[in-house]
Amino acid sequence: MTAIEELAQIAKEVSGCTSCSLHSSRKNAVPGEGPADSSLLFIGEGPGFHENEQGRPFVGAAGKFLEELLASIRLSREQVFICNVVKCRPPGNRDPQPDEIEACRAYLDRQIAAIQPKVIVTLGRFSMARYFGASKISSVHGQAKTVDGRLVVAMFHPAAALHQPDLKQTIKDDFQKLPALIEEVRKLDSAGSKPVPDATQLPMF
Ligand code: SF4
Repeated sequence: MTAIEELAQIAKEVSGCTSCSLHSSRKNAVPGEGPADSSLLFIGEGPGFHENEQGRPFVGAAGKFLEELLASIRLSREQVFICNVVKCRPPGNRDPQPDEIEACRAYLDRQIAAIQPKVIVTLGRFSMARYFGASKISSVHGQAKTVDGRLVVAMFHPAAALHQPDLKQTIKDDFQKLPALIEEVRKLDSAGSKPVPDATQLPMF
């Protein structure tokens, strides 16, 4: 099965999933979207109101800000894969519960296995916890670590800037670290099976 086929299969399974209580209140499941061979994967928290309406990730105000952040490093959302730790909207935008994250974990694991991204950016504390354990996001944001042969970078969730304007510059500053990190991975990955974006895809480089 190709990566495109596996991602389509995951999306199909997600749309009919009843593995946690979030299925009962969703309008549309939101599996995620982006190129199957993307070298960059962004993992957020869960769908909000607009995402639940449209079945697409990051299409509300936080999504608009994410697009601005991507543009600041000369990327568009069409160049990266974007998904969440839970694929169905927590009612009232509450935090996803541990049992819900656990129930949904296999879908995200399979997406990562299919895409094989070189760099994962966690947006918010719930996706951060996959890789940084109990660390506080206020301590690790903007930092990178290697996990399973790929670079994982922790960032605040773009929605945090909408509610806490003082974080807006912090997120912008953290995003500016990404191009250099991607370039570092690209250099180290010269012997890998799938290169990170080259200069034609990432004009900054
Ligand atoms: S959040 Fe995940 S585990 Fe829960 S119903 Fe939706 S797809 Fe299934």
